[in-house]
Amino acid sequence: MTMEFSERIGRVEPSATLAISSLASELKADGADVIDLSVGEPDFPTPTNIVDACEEAMEEGHTGYPPSNGVPELREAIAEKLQGDGLPYEADNVIVTPGAKQALYETVQTVVDDGDEVVLLDPAWVSYEAMVKLAGGDLNRVDLAPHDFKLEPALDDLSEAVSDDTELLIVNSPSNPTGAVYSDKALEGVRDLAVEHDITVISDEIYEQITYGAECTSLGTLDGMFERTITVNGFSKAYSMTGWRLGYLAAPEELVSQAAKLHSHSVSSATNFVQRAGVEALANTEDDVSEMVEAFHERRDRLVALLKQHDVDVRTPDGAFYMMIPVAEDDQQWCEDALEQAHVATVPGSAFGAPGYARVSYAAGLERIEEAVERLADEDLL
Ligand code: PMP
Repeated sequence: MTMEFSERIGRVEPSATLAISSLASELKADGADVIDLSVGEPDFPTPTNIVDACEEAMEEGHTGYPPSNGVPELREAIAEKLQGDGLPYEADNVIVTPGAKQALYETVQTVVDDGDEVVLLDPAWVSYEAMVKLAGGDLNRVDLAPHDFKLEPALDDLSEAVSDDTELLIVNSPSNPTGAVYSDKALEGVRDLAVEHDITVISDEIYEQITYGAECTSLGTLDGMFERTITVNGFSKAYSMTGWRLGYLAAPEELVSQAAKLHSHSVSSATNFVQRAGVEALANTEDDVSEMVEAFHERRDRLVALLKQHDVDVRTPDGAFYMMIPVAEDDQQWCEDALEQAHVATVPGSAFGAPGYARVSYAAGLERIEEAVERLADEDLL
């Protein structure tokens, strides 16, 4: 029989990041020593206090279905964390999700109708586009690449792109893939436009704790933004908990009650004992987070310095653990060559709407980063 698939699923492609990872895995399986700078996950183990809290929760019998929107202790702890950031959310404003990705997916499904306009700031994380297409939205993209990936100088372009027809704007600072942390001036510019045109805004703050001296303002703290912002965050990056699948959205209650329907009819909830480990992560992991951020900081500086030695001029990113490096016009080909010839895995910039660049993740040990640059240089790829 020939199965027929929905028009909806035909609108999206598999994730480009995962495509490179699987090619890298094939090479590894053939015995190649691949340096994987394509992945979006910290290379540290999850801090032991979090693992212990999870084990304890299992032993205590927290293995059944939890309340759909999240266990009260965690929703409370998340609300408190957000209040500390200047966002007056209460526990009722929070939905705990299996990863921030699910929080973003639920939000887009809840806000976007067929034909609604959604604005993205390019280069943008790959899944936003897919989520919007699955919801039937029309994408309108503002390119930050000509502005060194900064938002402030692109505000005029953003102002031209948005209108009263714009339903949703997605902002991600610190950014994946550029590592840019948007300035307060830039965010105020976003606020002015969002208020003027009555736009709902998603603020994806998953890298918020991973910054290097730059202030990272939460969009919902700006005057006029709290009522129109969905704040999304998660545990994957700051606490090195990618495989645990734990994240959340915080939003006005009217949105929470709508999104909660999709949440309960799809995933039901995030995993019970994982949520309890999340309470521990928020309460007692500051030192580990600082250590990880320090390590990323050192790697960023080393990578920028090494690239400079090879005359590759990159703008030093202020956050996350990615940077965009200018490569050949055909970035897809460059990434394939880098993988096949130098056994270094990166992601083509075109996957993020930034052709001519490759995204490099420095969530890898210093020696591996050094060797990667050396190999790329040896193969004349820098
Ligand atoms: N937003 C951004 C910008 C990301 O880079 C990621 C992970 N790659 C996510 C959201 C989702 O993270 P998770 O589902 O692991 O919480």
